Amino acid sequence: MIFRSSHPDIEIPEVGVFQYTTSNPYGINDDKAIFIDGTTDKRLTFGQLKSSSRKLAAGLINKVGFKRGDVLAIYSPNHIDYPVVIFGTIAAGGKISPVNPAYTVKELTYQLKDCGASIIITHPDFLNNAIEAAAAANIHKSKIFLFNDEEINEFQPFMSLLSDKEIDPVEFTPEEAKSITAYLCYSSGTTGLSKGVETTHFNIVSNLAQLNAFENNIKHNSTLMGVLPFFHIYGLVILIHFIILKGATCVILPKFELRPFCRIIQDYKVDIAPIVPPIILLLVKDPIVRKYNLSSLQLVISGAAPLSKELSNEFVETYKAYGTSIKQGYGLTETSPVTHLVRANFVNGSIGVLIPNMECKIISEDNQELGYNETGEICLRGPNIMKGYLNNRKATDACIDSDGWFHTGDVGYVDIHGNFFIIDRVKELIKYKGSQVAPAELEAILLTHPSIADAAVIGVYSNEQATELPLAFVVLQQNKIKSDQMKEEIKNFVSLRVAQHKRLRGGVYFIDQIPKSPSGKILRRFLKNKLTAETKFR
Ligand code: AMP
Repeated sequence: MIFRSSHPDIEIPEVGVFQYTTSNPYGINDDKAIFIDGTTDKRLTFGQLKSSSRKLAAGLINKVGFKRGDVLAIYSPNHIDYPVVIFGTIAAGGKISPVNPAYTVKELTYQLKDCGASIIITHPDFLNNAIEAAAAANIHKSKIFLFNDEEINEFQPFMSLLSDKEIDPVEFTPEEAKSITAYLCYSSGTTGLSKGVETTHFNIVSNLAQLNAFENNIKHNSTLMGVLPFFHIYGLVILIHFIILKGATCVILPKFELRPFCRIIQDYKVDIAPIVPPIILLLVKDPIVRKYNLSSLQLVISGAAPLSKELSNEFVETYKAYGTSIKQGYGLTETSPVTHLVRANFVNGSIGVLIPNMECKIISEDNQELGYNETGEICLRGPNIMKGYLNNRKATDACIDSDGWFHTGDVGYVDIHGNFFIIDRVKELIKYKGSQVAPAELEAILLTHPSIADAAVIGVYSNEQATELPLAFVVLQQNKIKSDQMKEEIKNFVSLRVAQHKRLRGGVYFIDQIPKSPSGKILRRFLKNKLTAETKFR
């Protein structure tokens, strides 16, 4: 059975991201502050954003020879000028590959090489990593530019790239809008290492239009908390593009810390906070929260990772005096991102209903279409499904079938009212506080440890932290001794080689053999069950 959004299909403009996002359907003034840096109070108005982007586009083309189709990488925490770099690059006909600022030099090098970036914009605090990775990826150091106003050694602020004159943003025909990639965010998808997700102009315009037709909380007078990372598609689309389309305001916090987070809600009267479950947990449990006046907060939107029913109930109870509601959304990097959103009549534990223009089927292990209240893998079809993985036809074909269905790797069901529920994952992916951890990457690192013969990584859910934690099963080389010291050594070995969200916080377990299928695939489900059984009887 094919499930469809109960909302009528909408017509989606076949134009570029710049043209649609800045089309100003709600008639806001150019002097409206769309972005505010919550730590310095610096502001970026709608007019400044458009003008600086057009000047940057001119500078990219004329000063550094940036061409249509070239890739610019941003390696930085959230920054007030992030949107200018995005829209400048898009206006020049380029693509953006946003990089997680927590990445090590090796991880950054991998993404720079894979996406073929020719320019890097970074934050001064991350310059050293950027220099090292650029050298490894053959990007000349004259192509590294900085956020903020200062020159550091020979590295120039990106503002030096702005021309005096503005140029008109590149326009796309309907065919081009559908085929040309605008963003290359990275996701491991259902299996293997991180891959560049080719998100086209039309994909982004679609998701913005789908949200605009369905989402009625974010308005021109809304103030949103800007803590979700801009490098992740959730922050990129909601906190940058949707905010601009709506003419709302986003108060930026570069790094999550509870006190500044609460202070910003209090001082800027933030009314909407798109966040992830571990932050919701702190808002419920941490006494620091009570020192601030959070009464402006009307809505919390939870996404990117599972939110338990218990935690969402606790949240509603804790904030009932303010009437703050909580809504889930669901989506993936590959779906640009939103596919489901909870509608007004809130169903606890549900990820929501299908947004307009989305179709869904739920399939059993033997590929049969299931009906209401039957659990299987969720497959989605719609205008927001990515073009594919960059230079990886095999991985693309493995998740998008010949009928255009994208297989999410998430397991769930839909009730007779159209409310969807996620209960499990069949894919390898682990999510630590909303950030992706690819088991294959950690397994490859573990196998380089001299004492390890084989390894498998899975996620284990921690109620205390409201997140999954990466956990490793390892088989030691024959002459090696199983000890707590060895476990610590293995954990440290991994920590030294990966971004902090990928650390083995779930622990290291010794095992005699990694269970594998005849084709050599790790039987992760078996390991998960083994872990559950052992912890039950401990
Ligand atoms: P990403 O591409 O990083 O956005 O990760 C997408 C994955 O995050 C999905 O396939 C789900 O496994 C998970 N996810 C996103 N939103 C939710 C949600 N509301 N509930 C449960 N899992 C979610």
